[in-house]
Amino acid sequence: MKETQSGSGSGETPVVRMDKVNKHYGALHVLQDIELEVTRGEVVVVLGPSGSGKSTLCRTINRLETIDDGDIYIDGTRLPAEGKPLAQLRADVGMVFQSFNLFAHKSILENVTLGPIKVKGMKKAEADKLAMKLLTRVGVANQKDKLPAQLSGGQQQRVAIARALAMKPKVMLFDEPTSALDPEMIQEVLDTMVELAEEGMTMIVVTHEMGFARKAAHRVVFMSDGAIVEEAKPEDFFTNPQSDRAKDFLGKLI
Ligand code: ADP
Ligand code: MG
Repeated sequence: MKETQSGSGSGETPVVRMDKVNKHYGALHVLQDIELEVTRGEVVVVLGPSGSGKSTLCRTINRLETIDDGDIYIDGTRLPAEGKPLAQLRADVGMVFQSFNLFAHKSILENVTLGPIKVKGMKKAEADKLAMKLLTRVGVANQKDKLPAQLSGGQQQRVAIARALAMKPKVMLFDEPTSALDPEMIQEVLDTMVELAEEGMTMIVVTHEMGFARKAAHRVVFMSDGAIVEEAKPEDFFTNPQSDRAKDFLGKLI
């Protein structure tokens, strides 16, 4: 179940490649020589203490943040892609945030159809059909006419996942997607993410849910102070962390 579709050493173009990426916020070196390759169908979980640069890393991949030097490639195309509008480029990189970020004054259905219609020029009927398929898949189709505030946090986050999927992204980024949820709603969102992973979606997931990391991740990337300190299979990372910083991080989890 955790085999990646591409297999190993196939020489296939990675879906995401970060090559010596550096970024500063003033004096803060928030991303330090980041090297990361994510292959098709791979699920990478990014762990690390608060402030280590995990969100910044995600935000550079969909160009919510620029970088100072280095290169980022999405499916072989270097960012920013020449001549390609940012909105289209971002369509390749779905992102789900901690704080759902749904359009508050649009229905659940419209939240999902907006991107395909506006960015991809899809006809409304086709976009509606796609949205209903995705809303059904994440289990909230019966909420389609409601506004986001009428849904629970877990339902809203599943809508956010459906909205991102509607753009047919090449990779999905999740930045602490369950951190703002009441405990009883965390599992329904994680279950949706596990299903996506099992269907072969390429995913980068920042989370504190170690159960998800153990179950769904092909690889754990551990960040500290803006650098990738350690990378390993989850079973190796959790049982045998190499660096003092990873040991310290895991020691603080209960
Ligand atoms: P994480 O997601 O791992 O908690 P972040 O990527 O959010 O870490 O932040 C990394 C560091 O960069 C933190 O020290 C944070 O305060 C700082 N930072 C994040 N965003 C900005 C910003 N827009 N301007 C200045 N500093 C920032
Ligand atoms: Mg963060």
